[in-house]
Amino acid sequence: MEKIDVLGVKFDNVTMDEAIMEVLRLLKNNETDMVVTPNPEIVQLCYENPEVMGVMNRASLTVADGIGVIYAAKMLGTPLKGRVPGFDLASNLLRYIETGEYRLFLLGAAPGIAERAAENIKAKYPRIDICGTNDGYFSDEERIVNKINESGADICFVCLGAPKQEIFMDRHINDTCAKVMIGLGGSLDVFAGNVKRAPAWMSRMGLEWLYRLVTNPKRMRRMMKIPVFLRNVSKSKKTKS
Ligand code: UDP
Repeated sequence: MEKIDVLGVKFDNVTMDEAIMEVLRLLKNNETDMVVTPNPEIVQLCYENPEVMGVMNRASLTVADGIGVIYAAKMLGTPLKGRVPGFDLASNLLRYIETGEYRLFLLGAAPGIAERAAENIKAKYPRIDICGTNDGYFSDEERIVNKINESGADICFVCLGAPKQEIFMDRHINDTCAKVMIGLGGSLDVFAGNVKRAPAWMSRMGLEWLYRLVTNPKRMRRMMKIPVFLRNVSKSKKTKS
C-alpha cells in the first residue's frame, strides 16, 4: 500500500472502505497485527519522541484520524485519500464482524465503561460476539494479555489513549492470540454514550477538534500541539522543496 510520510509517521493512503478491507484481510492471516489511528497531536508526539515514532511505524495499518493530518499531507504535496477516524473505523467494522466468525474484546477506559460500551454495541449488533472487557487502569499487563488470550479474541479494541495503547500493543504483539489490535483512544467512551461525537455538520467542516475542545476544555493543553505540528509540517515542506 502507498505510504504518505507526515513528519516521519508513515500513513497508509486509504479510504474508509479500503481500511476496512485491510483490517478484514489482517484478520485472516496468522500473525497479530497492530492498527493505529494517529491524529495531529499524536504525530507531533512521535516527532518529539523517536521511541514512540518507532512503535507507531511498526503498525500494519496506519490511518489518519484528524483533519489536521489530511491538511498536512496536502500541504506537503502528497495528499491522502481521506480521513479515517478511529471511532468510525471501529463502528463500520462492527457490521462486518457481526457474522459470528470473529470474537471482539474491549479494553480500556474507566471501570464500567467497556461493559456499557459492550451493551450498547450488542443492542445495535445483536449477533456480535463480545468475548471480554476490561478497564484501562491496570498495572499487571500480563494478567490482561492472559485475559485477552483466554477469551479467544480475534480482534481487540485497545482504548488506553496515545501513546499508552500503541506501546501496549507493540509490547504484546507476540504474546497475544488476537489477530488484530486497534488503538482507538477514547472510542469506548463514545460507544458507552459517555462522550458525544461532534454533530455531522461540524465533522463535515473538519471542526470535530473544536467540538471536542469546547465540550472538554481540559484538552486545551494537548491541542496546543496542533499549531506546533502545523509549523513543523510547514518547515518540513520548505526543506523538501
Ligand atoms: N485511558 C485508559 N487508561 C489510562 C489512561 C487513559 O484506559 O491509563 C482511557 C481514558 O479513560 C479514555 C481514553 O483512554 O477513555 C483516552 O481518551 P482520549 O479521548 O484522551 O483519547 P484520544 O482518542 O484523544 O487519543
